[in-house]
Amino acid sequence: MNIRHHVSDTLLAAYATGDLAEGWSLAVATHLSLCPECRKRLAKFEAVAADMMEALPAEADVSGSWDAMKARLAGSDAGVALPPEKTVSKPVASPVLPEPLRSYVGGDAKALKWKPLGRGAYQVQIPTRDEETTVRLLRIPAGRPVPEHSHGGRELTLVLAGSFSDEQGRFARGDLEEADEDLQHQPVAGSEEDCICLAVTDAPLRFSSRFLRIVQPILGI
Ligand SMILES: [Zn+2]
Repeated sequence: MNIRHHVSDTLLAAYATGDLAEGWSLAVATHLSLCPECRKRLAKFEAVAADMMEALPAEADVSGSWDAMKARLAGSDAGVALPPEKTVSKPVASPVLPEPLRSYVGGDAKALKWKPLGRGAYQVQIPTRDEETTVRLLRIPAGRPVPEHSHGGRELTLVLAGSFSDEQGRFARGDLEEADEDLQHQPVAGSEEDCICLAVTDAPLRFSSRFLRIVQPILGI
């Protein structure tokens, strides 16, 4: 697998220090299970974070320590021991949903109850215990566009099958797109197969079309 879109430093650092709400963590952890490169980066972050926690007096204010951590990462490459790369044995039938996502939703993609969104698209809403994020699996038919929208907040999209393309590039299995309120994008699913992705948002999507804004609450998107 050739992953080209990875977890940003900011997001990975927040994950390493346990600062992410459950929905975001689920997307990051699922990317990590597919991406040896980000697992290595995470190990570095965790090693530096552990060093820094040890050096801090108890109850210290750690805000702003991320800049210091980045500076140390840039200068201390040789000092951080990395664990050997995990070898994953290839399963006979590869599931669409990797762990920890598959256990989280209780089965692989085919076992889920997909609800129609119109125009051939389907979704499964995934309940979380946090009150910050909305998590869903989306299935967009091959070659079809996802309606153009911008965001009230952050959106993480992790591709699990097929692909989509937008102004940021092409995203295939394992690729993670981080979008914020400044990105207005029109993803289009690749023609090779239906695109299945995990989408985590922290605010309702804002569609450019007035019609979609009106039907949005009805569709639950
Ligand atoms: Zn990665």
